[in-house]
Amino acid sequence: MSPGAAARDGSRLNPPTEVLRIAARLQEAGFETWCVGGAVRDALLGESHADWDLATAATPVQVRALFNRTVPHGIEFGTVGVLDRRGVMHEVTTFRRDVKHDGRHAVVEFGVSLDDDLARRDFTINAIAFHPGTRELRDPFGGQADLDRRVVRAVGDASARMVEDRLRALRALRFAGRFAFTIDPATWDAIVASAPFLPRLSRERVRQELEKTMAQVARPSRSLELWRSSGALASLVPELATVPDAALRAPDHIGAPGTTGREERALARSRNRLASLFLDLSPREARRVLEGLRGSNRETDWVTHVVSCWQGLGDGMRQHLATGDVTDADLRRWAARTGRTHFQDFMRIAVARWEAEGHQALAPGIVSAFRRGVRIAWRDPLSAGDLAVDGSDLMEAGVPAGPAIGTTLKRLVEAVIEDPARNRRDVLLELATAWQAEQP
Ligand code: ATP
Ligand code: MG
Repeated sequence: MSPGAAARDGSRLNPPTEVLRIAARLQEAGFETWCVGGAVRDALLGESHADWDLATAATPVQVRALFNRTVPHGIEFGTVGVLDRRGVMHEVTTFRRDVKHDGRHAVVEFGVSLDDDLARRDFTINAIAFHPGTRELRDPFGGQADLDRRVVRAVGDASARMVEDRLRALRALRFAGRFAFTIDPATWDAIVASAPFLPRLSRERVRQELEKTMAQVARPSRSLELWRSSGALASLVPELATVPDAALRAPDHIGAPGTTGREERALARSRNRLASLFLDLSPREARRVLEGLRGSNRETDWVTHVVSCWQGLGDGMRQHLATGDVTDADLRRWAARTGRTHFQDFMRIAVARWEAEGHQALAPGIVSAFRRGVRIAWRDPLSAGDLAVDGSDLMEAGVPAGPAIGTTLKRLVEAVIEDPARNRRDVLLELATAWQAEQP
């Protein structure tokens, strides 16, 4: 089906039963209520969307009075969370108008019409309302036509809208990448003009946008390249503005679009995609950037670890893989460097980067070595904890307490990485005693 046909296919507008019940309850109480925002847009595009937001003429107080279980979610902005019979929360927001804006925060006014509410939304494709009772579509800004034309276009005067809220510039780049849409020229000019002002956004907001891009966009490079060409990247993360194109394309090669509901896997994919962006920075630079963006410690540590492994191993790995000459000992050495639990993710990132660089020819060799490596990493000894002896065994065998223990354990790890068959108590103690005898 052509995108145009999809955009006009109202049969896809099927809000979940619980959302219909909430809307019906509000309607019965005399409050006009519509489905709005991302779910309407995505349904018209033929995609599913988890959160069907409702907009209503009822005030937050009136909404709370109508339902048993509500959460005062963002009540000063008019949003009440209504819990359905299964305890799932649905957002119900009072029709509102922004009366004041400071580039990020709005002061809002209630008691306005649906059309006023749609007028304060960012892009025409996000400003379409659907009435679940009458099935009427309200589309005062031509959002459906823009879905047909595959264009992201600001509602009203693009430049004024970007000045009101700078986050909209980044949202436009995300939506354009996610739907493979172009950006309307006036909207694009306003985004470019916004670039120098983006550092006024809180760092958390910027990181969230980057994370949403990694999570939602099948080919993140579509958005990232717009971050770069608009000047947003240089303004927000200058360290990444000059990385090779392959760095911006590497995330595209990690994982399929997030159709899976498995949250853990989706999170890992986003984290790996993020790490793949940073491979050209030094580990210290990468850490500084992520700390600057207020990334979690876990995320920051992960990216820094990947960057440092890549710089230690990347070139050597590529050469081995190019010649197809990868021994089990090579794989164990690499896995020992990344850590057993990180080896698979690290290899995914490395392969993504090589693919982004156009090393397609290497792919079969890489994939089979990578599979073998994962198996080996879990089977064979890689670290001191995996050895058949420990420090006290070594002391009993005559290695003096102190630094010699650590040095000996390290040499034993190297010995078993070369040949895991050596990982037996008698063999290791024999090696340790022999090395001890060599000492002056
Ligand atoms: P996503 O799939 O990312 O959730 P979405 O369109 O649902 O996309 P939300 O951030 O959930 O985006 O916002 C819901 C709706 O609220 C948007 O569709 C848009 O109409 C409006 N909106 C959100 N952020 C802004 C903003 N910064 N300025 C104006 N309107 C906004
Ligand atoms: Mg949403």
